[in-house]
Amino acid sequence: MQYFPVFMDLRGETVAVIGGGAVAERKIRLLLKAGARVRLVARELNDTVTTWSNDGQVHWAARDYTGGELDGARLVFAASDDDALNRRVHADAEARRIPVNVVDDREHCRFITPAIVDRDPVTVAISSGGQSPVLARRVRSWIERLLPAGLGAVARAAGNLRTKAARLPLEQRRQFWDRMLNRQGVDALTRLPEDEIESRLGHELAAEVALETAHNAGAPRPGRVILVGAGPGRADLLTIRAQQALGQADVILHDRLVPADILEVARRDAEFIDVGKRSGNHHETQAGIHDLMVEHARRGRVVVRLKGGDPFVFGRGGEELEHLRAHDIEYEVVPGVTAATACAAFAGIPLTHRDHSQALTLITGHTQLDGKDPAWAELAGEGRTLAIYMGVKQAPVLRDKLLKAGLAPDLPVALVADGARDTQQVFHGSIRHLPALAARAPSGAPGLFIIGRVARLGETLAWFGGQVRESQRAA
Ligand code: SAH
Repeated sequence: MQYFPVFMDLRGETVAVIGGGAVAERKIRLLLKAGARVRLVARELNDTVTTWSNDGQVHWAARDYTGGELDGARLVFAASDDDALNRRVHADAEARRIPVNVVDDREHCRFITPAIVDRDPVTVAISSGGQSPVLARRVRSWIERLLPAGLGAVARAAGNLRTKAARLPLEQRRQFWDRMLNRQGVDALTRLPEDEIESRLGHELAAEVALETAHNAGAPRPGRVILVGAGPGRADLLTIRAQQALGQADVILHDRLVPADILEVARRDAEFIDVGKRSGNHHETQAGIHDLMVEHARRGRVVVRLKGGDPFVFGRGGEELEHLRAHDIEYEVVPGVTAATACAAFAGIPLTHRDHSQALTLITGHTQLDGKDPAWAELAGEGRTLAIYMGVKQAPVLRDKLLKAGLAPDLPVALVADGARDTQQVFHGSIRHLPALAARAPSGAPGLFIIGRVARLGETLAWFGGQVRESQRAA
């Protein structure tokens, strides 16, 4: 790194500028914004600089440069159109060890000025180390688009509330700012009229301080639960919101389907509870999960309930929210990539296709266990795609039901096991092969059936190959 980045407080400090044309004008404008006292040496000034000089904003010495003008300056800008003069200024400043910038002459710069994105007081400074100012400006325009216009107002409001926020203990304060100033929070604030930002933040802060006071007086601090979809089992398919939630969590209740590399995204000191491996009767387990969520949230913790895929697709997320609602616990839901879209993508099977399928049904293979058999013929067949979750073990029963419903025995089927993971395997066949396909899937791996004409496209459109990938047809 050739240049050391700093932000410098120049309020009330003298900065010498040599030159009074357009180049000097740009530097002076910024210096005035930063509250510097500008000492200007130039024979003549352009109109803008003349105005500044007339109303006393800059102090103009209307004479030839002698060198003495640099004395006492914190910084020096040489911005005249006379190269020889600029070099002299450079040499003089160096001799006095005052940082100097000869505009557009990198060889004669002790410091260089960055391209900036100005959301005062938030300032992003970008430098290409003098290698490519064009690139630096390009990067600036990318960042410009990224940062909302009201960001400065948010930062000012946060700054004004700092003393008040100091009433919260360190950890609560960190969590408060974390929550208010994450991407969602900032977006919400910047949508408000500027003069309401501070009062909104102040309102939230007051509520937080009141809670803290109540807590100190013995009242429990309410926690909350974030229901998070972990996707099919690849850390890089987590949403950014899911990563944020994992980063905030005090407690993580996770499913069996969630692999270790996803748990690694979480806060190191979070408490991890594997609720998938708890033994016992299904309903007891679900009730146990409900109790755990409530218990931890009531202790004031941020609880992440992490589920495979999407929490609202065969994830019992609805029941969990009903329970939280009944116990008056705050919650939030973060969607995840569900098995159907993940498996389809990683097996090269478009779930809809203009030529083959105009409708998609997600169904559980467990229906018949609950005695609620769907009208299979209406869900699968011509122009339709059916994705069956939790169907691998029921494959023989499923085949019989689908055939009995009148579906063609040679309707294409793909079974995606361990979908989207490096261990993914895809087996192609047709309805009549359902049990044979299921028998080939590694036992214990989650598997999804995709039924319909689109399934066959995976044989040509497949693109993903882990080492163990296998794409084969049942005989
Ligand atoms: N909420 C989850 C589904 C939970 S039900 C989601 O939205 O994906 C569990 C079933 O999901 C498994 O029986 C299997 O059919 C399917 N499944 C989950 N992850 C899978 C994966 N990586 N590959 C294939 N199927 C998967």
